[in-house]
Amino acid sequence: MGSQDCIFCKIAAGDIPCCKVYEDESVIAFLDISPLSDGHTLVIPKAHFERFDQCPPQLLADIVECTAKIASAVVSGLGCDGYNVLCNNGAAAGQEVNHVHFHVIGRNSGDAVFTQWPAKHYAEGQAEVILNRISKNL
Ligand code: AMP
Ligand code: ZN
Repeated sequence: MGSQDCIFCKIAAGDIPCCKVYEDESVIAFLDISPLSDGHTLVIPKAHFERFDQCPPQLLADIVECTAKIASAVVSGLGCDGYNVLCNNGAAAGQEVNHVHFHVIGRNSGDAVFTQWPAKHYAEGQAEVILNRISKNL
């Protein structure tokens, strides 16, 4: 499966250059062109799937395995204090490239890469209503 207009399909096919960190039969990892921190890496499947939940299970396993490998290498190689793994799905969630990808973002204390985490609280009884709406779709 591929998408003619997809920039990540073109990178996976070698038609557009990238700073390649890793590649195997099913996945490829490369440096993000506009990094949030040094070593910000994207892990993508070579096959075109738009969202995380649309990927077949074995491919998900391959992506996650590669993402863990990359995270470990970013931390060891660049001496980060930690890292974020991020997968934006849908425009509302900030997905700009509609080919599923995991961001691996090395973090250091006080780097102010993400300054907001707008946590809220459930009103009385609201959590039960919400979990019912989710669980009946599983
Ligand atoms: P998202 O908002 O989760 O869809 O993230 C897309 C990411 O792809 C952004 O962080 C971009 O900087 C990155 N990106 C877009 N084009 C390229 C490219 N040609 N090479 C590397 N990274 C890219
Ligand atoms: Zn694609």
